[in-house]
Amino acid sequence: MREKIGSDGLSAVLLTWYDVHAREMPWRVGPSDRAAGVRPDPYRVWLSEVMLQQTTVAAVRSYFRTFTERWPTVAHLAAAEDADVMAAWAGLGYYARARNLLKCARVVAHDFGGVFPGTAEDLRRLPGIGPYTSAAIAAIAFDQPETVVDGNVERVMARLHAVETPLPTAKAGLTQLAADLTPGARPGDYAQAVMDLGATVCTPRNPACGICPLVHSCAGRAAGIAAELPRKLPKKTKPTRLGYVYVLRNSAGDWLLETRPDKGLLGGMLGWPTSDWVEEAPTEAPPLPADWHDPRAEVRHTFTHFHLRLALRVAVSDAVPERGAFVPASAFSPASLPTVMRKAFDLARDPLDASVIDKK
Ligand code: SF4
Repeated sequence: MREKIGSDGLSAVLLTWYDVHAREMPWRVGPSDRAAGVRPDPYRVWLSEVMLQQTTVAAVRSYFRTFTERWPTVAHLAAAEDADVMAAWAGLGYYARARNLLKCARVVAHDFGGVFPGTAEDLRRLPGIGPYTSAAIAAIAFDQPETVVDGNVERVMARLHAVETPLPTAKAGLTQLAADLTPGARPGDYAQAVMDLGATVCTPRNPACGICPLVHSCAGRAAGIAAELPRKLPKKTKPTRLGYVYVLRNSAGDWLLETRPDKGLLGGMLGWPTSDWVEEAPTEAPPLPADWHDPRAEVRHTFTHFHLRLALRVAVSDAVPERGAFVPASAFSPASLPTVMRKAFDLARDPLDASVIDKK
């Protein structure tokens, strides 16, 4: 039987659950430390929230550690070299976030004396901080009563209230339901409590209703439709773009790399030269004339809006490149490449070794 508990009661139940079950995260001040008066560092909260945009907690942990060890304050990050930050970000994807991260750090360091503003409205004026991130930072770092709605929160709200309207149509309604539940006290902990519940108990496929603190108030559970929620409109199929990627060394073993233009996909990141990426019949565009070898290998990668397939070309040449520059092997780290470029490197290594051997 479903119990009718008011919104204050539901948020109190969730906070009690969070006090025991909060996930440990390197950027988080847990409930017991908070109770003891420890305040979250807005720099760490901001950094983690930007990293978590469209990326999982598991993927972010090691990046967060690297960044905070290397740049422990916003002033340190603001003073960093662009190329160092882009290289440290490589592999996290969505590279516009890294460029905005640097811009934001510099604005906070130079215009705000290194102190993050404490309201969602002021935070939203900073580069790379949208409605979600500003609400999350304001709630978590400054305990402002902001409503923080990510995919986890949408799922919990849809199930708790048995909302059958599909996403994205249901978004505004789910946000309102989440706002109605947000308490005046401990809004930061509450925001994290709903996210943790969605991530660990009210999971997408198999909600663990048996151990859920909201089980007696959950309309989705009572109606037997919890696992089907939230409903979603069918996704549009992604187009596939095609192109070529060119991995080349000279006889000294240096790699030919280029920094991609700031605007556009992988903007500002280091990578192998490629042709344009098009939906039909790509045209070869090698960075220099060479005896290009076709190892019959293809890099496959999926971006948010399209799939990409790049035919690999490898060569060894000492010709002067028309674009890009040779980077000595001692200064080259595959880890500084974005994932799609690292895939090309992994595929090119063997054929390139073979082609070097052939030429000896
Ligand atoms: Fe999710 Fe089940 Fe809890 Fe409802 S009872 S909120 S469906 S885990």
